[in-house]
Amino acid sequence: VIVVAVVACLVSVTVAFVVENHEEEPLRMRSSAPAATTVLPTPSAASKPLPSCRYADAPATDVAYSDWQSTLVDPTFTLPPDYYPPGLVPVSRAGFGGSGAVRSFVIPQLSALRQAAAAAGHPIAINTAFRSYGTQQAVFADSVALRGHAAALQRAARPGHSEHQLGTTIDFESAGMVDVTQAWGSTPAGTWMAENAWRYGFVLSYPKNRKPVTCYDWEPWHFRFFGVQVAAQIHASGLTTRQYLWDERGR
Ligand SMILES: [Zn+2]
Repeated sequence: VIVVAVVACLVSVTVAFVVENHEEEPLRMRSSAPAATTVLPTPSAASKPLPSCRYADAPATDVAYSDWQSTLVDPTFTLPPDYYPPGLVPVSRAGFGGSGAVRSFVIPQLSALRQAAAAAGHPIAINTAFRSYGTQQAVFADSVALRGHAAALQRAARPGHSEHQLGTTIDFESAGMVDVTQAWGSTPAGTWMAENAWRYGFVLSYPKNRKPVTCYDWEPWHFRFFGVQVAAQIHASGLTTRQYLWDERGR
């Protein structure tokens, strides 16, 4: 019994170390405590609890530009200031107006989504697409000037902590709208987007009543592109994107 307890203690210390360093090294963990594999369930990324929402500047993992489907950006994990994805193209290539840009591989499905929404009687427009670190800095500073720092934190991501910096994330609205609010989420257009955007690869990052896990109030306009296949997996999982990405880390 004492041996098992010591092994369990070693493993839990190792797990804590790994979590703190935002790494996933199950193989090394097993080789340093071989007896544990027969006594305890194998630790995996999925078994790590989702961290609570807190403001920090821990470097995000999976920040290669090719890891755009895996990068977890939230109030804790930050993208580097020089994260500026390649291949940004204007959203006009998907038939939208405005000056927004997205990574080029988003365009085909973005175009399909636009056409499907219009065909369903809910023509959509783009409010915001890519934002650089510098732009997010300005957005956040404006929000602080308007509301004060504490209130700004609730309304805008700090620079480095916005999914818009990925170049795959878009704030939608109905065509002709000047700005979009939570009320849009209850309109037929907002409802259609929540129910159907995933079919085109776009997943709602901050659904209604999920703030304890997403860290944000309901943002019915904010969708991140994952590609059709991964978006379908996320949809089927019933998880929010933050939960899904946390579970997938290091797999
Ligand atoms: Zn947004």
